[in-house]
Amino acid sequence: MSNCIFDKIINGEIPSNKVLENDEFLAFHDINPKAPVHILIIPKKHVENFQEADAKILGKIGEFTQEVAKLMGVDKSGYRLVTNCGADGGQEVMHLHFHLLGGTHLKWTNAKENSDPKDTF
Ligand code: AMP
Repeated sequence: MSNCIFDKIINGEIPSNKVLENDEFLAFHDINPKAPVHILIIPKKHVENFQEADAKILGKIGEFTQEVAKLMGVDKSGYRLVTNCGADGGQEVMHLHFHLLGGTHLKWTNAKENSDPKDTF
């Protein structure tokens, strides 16, 4: 029995609003969306975060993500892909996941108003 919330979603202990699934990956709606389209994409194998993932899983999850983008209708309009990694990255769920965000013109926060990174971070 895993305590990981995404493992529980994978094995059906916790419900999710699924978008796409195959043997290795699952995509579902984020419970607290930050954009009109906000999908989480995860491997079914428990990998802690991006830093722990191997090339095989990253390549395959990339192709799976492209399919999710098409399904959500943002493949042409564009989207943002984010993965928070570790404590400084703000990762809250310790199971590798990519946030696919789109459906609106996203702003690039911090980039303009904080042009000198050392004043900000
Ligand atoms: P992160 O901060 O990158 O670890 O993001 C974790 C994400 O998981 C957040 O955007 C949460 O809203 C989302 N989340 C947490 N629990 C659930 C859940 N049960 N179903 C869907 N999304 C969830």
